[in-house]
Amino acid sequence: MDQAHALLIASPGLGHLIPVLELGNRLSSVLNVHVTILAVTSGSSSLIEIETIHAATTRGTCEIMELPSVDIDHLVEPDATVVTKIAAKMRAMKSAVRDAVKSMKRKPTVMIVDFLGTNLISIDDVGVMAKYVYVPSHAWFLALMVYLPVLDKVVEGEYVEIKEPLKIPGCKPVGPKELLDTMLNRSNQQYSECVQSGLEIPMSDGILVNTWEELQGNTLAALREDKDLNRVMKIPVYPIGPIIRTSGPIVRTKLTENPNGIFEWLDKQRERSVVYVCLGSGGTLSFEQTMELALGLELSGQSFLWVLRRPVSYLEVSSRDDDHVSNGLPKGFLDRTRGVGLVVTQWAPQVEILSHGSIGGFLSHCGWSSVLESLTEGVPIIAWPLYAEQWMNATLLADEIGVAIRTLELPSKKVIGREEVAFLVKKIVAEEDGEGRKIRDKAEEVKVSSKRAWTHGGSSHSSLLEWAKQCRLVS
Ligand code: UDP
Repeated sequence: MDQAHALLIASPGLGHLIPVLELGNRLSSVLNVHVTILAVTSGSSSLIEIETIHAATTRGTCEIMELPSVDIDHLVEPDATVVTKIAAKMRAMKSAVRDAVKSMKRKPTVMIVDFLGTNLISIDDVGVMAKYVYVPSHAWFLALMVYLPVLDKVVEGEYVEIKEPLKIPGCKPVGPKELLDTMLNRSNQQYSECVQSGLEIPMSDGILVNTWEELQGNTLAALREDKDLNRVMKIPVYPIGPIIRTSGPIVRTKLTENPNGIFEWLDKQRERSVVYVCLGSGGTLSFEQTMELALGLELSGQSFLWVLRRPVSYLEVSSRDDDHVSNGLPKGFLDRTRGVGLVVTQWAPQVEILSHGSIGGFLSHCGWSSVLESLTEGVPIIAWPLYAEQWMNATLLADEIGVAIRTLELPSKKVIGREEVAFLVKKIVAEEDGEGRKIRDKAEEVKVSSKRAWTHGGSSHSSLLEWAKQCRLVS
């Protein structure tokens, strides 16, 4: 019998491409199935995507086909957001995807799209094939996405102005401090794209989500069993996380190829004493906030490793280094903190850094990949959410799971002063008792449960096998 074949489709942007590549790896290694990834890229400017695809191709576990880019300039407004552009591009790719599938010698058993490519669920004339959605985020986010079309009907006015938090049946309500940035302006096209995705996800045969049972049992139970939520979504949900990048740089720079400077420095630090600061691939701080963050790190007296790069955008990325970023730091900062802190201005090997024993805390923008990379190493988080679904992630981590501490105000709304930065850093890394200790203990507990979920017979391992049987990838 032919080896079963899973077809994965990645939307443009590293935040979509990387989780899909990692899912492909996991399917291929755990299920021993053939995996093809159709990568829709951002176009010729996307050096990082090209490098990422190249690195993944070299790894050789999945077959990767890059689909020729299509021009969408005439389909979107010139000032369209990244989400709007991605959704428009995925719609424009429909016939290219259909042609690619039809030309495949080995017909796919299952197709998996990510949550911005849900229009592809309705591809019909390619032979019968099960269609699933991959949500590389958490269960609460998924619940909000599928319930958004209902909220869209019943809530009047802008969500930012609501007095009561938005109720999602069986789940924690979503308050103004947890809204997705795509929900902030309902007349913007990106909001309509999210509502559309919320309508299309339930039309699939099921959902794979990058969380695990022990982390979000209640929300997962609501998605499966709450009768009001089941009115909008009756399909099965398979928690299969944490799926994270296990090795290899996304981006090659002098630092990622020869990271000894960082690791020699980390080797000299005490166990669990360093706070790692990194705001993902796109996090930007104002000049004033950069100053306050620097002075706060200095004031804390704790060791720090700060990745201070010129941010790169998903759709217009370049892996160029920028050594001048540090010019925006307070005068004399680098000299005064020499030995205590290390500032790097290139793309850092984050997965490897977080697994180093000297890292005691992570000041993070709370992108879900960064969160999972931190939790699987038992590193507690200082939540510094900036955009996308990061406000929600910060609340989930701080208020529900208990592995993070957060700023009093959202950092995207107000400059966080140096005293607050120093307070948070000391609390998370050094506080002997009290809240700091509690959060560190919880992070250790979550690390154990994350590993257990993926042992043989663990919850995510079993969930993946159940899904694979359901869609006949394995017998
Ligand atoms: N990353 C990295 N080095 C950096 C910055 C980011 O390796 O200097 C990686 C990080 O490990 C994670 C990804 O980039 O895998 C960022 O994804 P996340 O979902 O955390 O945030 P996003 O960048 O999508 O907002």
